Amino acid sequence: MRIALLLFAACSWLRAADRYPVDWAKLEPETIGYFTSLIRIDTSNPPGDETKAVNYLKPILDRAGIPTQVFALDPNRANLVARIKGNGSKRPVIIMGHTDVVGVQRDKWPVDPFAALRKDGYIWGRGSSDDKSHVVSCLMTMLELKRLNVQLDRDVIFIAEAGEEGTSRFGIGYLVDQHWNDIAAQYALAEGGQTVARNGQVLFAGIATTEKTPRAAKLVAHGTAGHGSRPRQDNAVLHLASAVAKFQSWQPPMRLNDTTRAYFERLATISPPDEAYRYNHIADPAHTDEIQRYFAEHEPGNYSVLRTSIVPTIIQGGFRTNVIPSEAEATLDIRALPDEDMPKLYDEMRRVINDPSVEVVADPSRNRPSAPPSRIDSEMFRSLERVQKQMFPKAVTIPTMLTGATDNAQLRTKGVEAYGFGAIADESEGDLHGAHSDQERVAESSIPKMIQFLWYTVLDIAASK
Ligand SMILES: [Zn+2]
Repeated sequence: MRIALLLFAACSWLRAADRYPVDWAKLEPETIGYFTSLIRIDTSNPPGDETKAVNYLKPILDRAGIPTQVFALDPNRANLVARIKGNGSKRPVIIMGHTDVVGVQRDKWPVDPFAALRKDGYIWGRGSSDDKSHVVSCLMTMLELKRLNVQLDRDVIFIAEAGEEGTSRFGIGYLVDQHWNDIAAQYALAEGGQTVARNGQVLFAGIATTEKTPRAAKLVAHGTAGHGSRPRQDNAVLHLASAVAKFQSWQPPMRLNDTTRAYFERLATISPPDEAYRYNHIADPAHTDEIQRYFAEHEPGNYSVLRTSIVPTIIQGGFRTNVIPSEAEATLDIRALPDEDMPKLYDEMRRVINDPSVEVVADPSRNRPSAPPSRIDSEMFRSLERVQKQMFPKAVTIPTMLTGATDNAQLRTKGVEAYGFGAIADESEGDLHGAHSDQERVAESSIPKMIQFLWYTVLDIAASK
């Protein structure tokens, strides 16, 4: 029964792919042309100036006969929404990429960050990974849907959005609040995943189904100001220091969810025995403490997904050697699990700090919304798994919870099942050449593969059978 179902699933994928064959080699020069042109448009945020990217993309879609809309809270920070209509028997799917990039420290770059230099099989530049690779993948998918006149059960909506890098009120926040009817969808595919290869062989496709929610709080210690020559018991600096130090020995309890449970289980299947043992026993009461200590030291990413994390990042207090200040404060970067009860957590922090002279104050400015994870048994997740199996038969799909934040969060608050996928990167590339690095680059060969991954997934989820 199970085998029959799998065969059926594989066949329906093949049928859609067969009915709409794409000459990938022929598309490559066009793809690389758009991609490098997008990188050369400097959309560093701040200020963003994403309208420049919209002015580049819109005529390409116009010429292809794909209807577009432009939505801008600020005229310099436009968002582009393009739509190819289906027969309406199913609800739409969004494919999305952000056009802004984080800024650069030019003198730290080995190459011009906005030249889109092609060298040794790589395309270099700010945005090559984050996130113009998604923008061009979505663009090519739209163009091919139109050119091949793909019959669709659901609308496919392409959003090239502004402001993802810290100013989502111009981008996804604005679209969700003011133009929801123009983008409403059942599913979304955007950034946040990673497809990891070793020696040219894809190991796994990490699909982000959820993410931690960024929150912030301050610890404010109050004492009596006085002369530095006369020690005081209520010295605000000392009280703050002991409060901050509590987070070395105490963190909120470990709590796995459907995504992180499946993440560790599936990661174990492609890991060497000692690593697999840790992933398989993380929830085992007899081993969890030891494994958590190991993660804390060697695998900070895996440590972070176990719990809401509280990390002191800024400490301020005092202004002169001989003056005891009346106040000192520390900033905490809190990354909450999607279902964290924040008021309860702040109360728990007060209990742990156990010092009436230290206040725990929530910082309401960090307010990206929190939403339940997207499901790992949805139609979309299954499509992603099927396409992974077809394209990279030896690999496995692993659902992930991001420790950072993306614009999928806002879509999830509207009930969209939103997933993050990513370009293929060899594990040797590490953080050195990744998003926000000053050597950001992607392997040229990974861009067509990324487009194919998106294309086949869109066909699987949206093409009429
Ligand atoms: Zn990004």
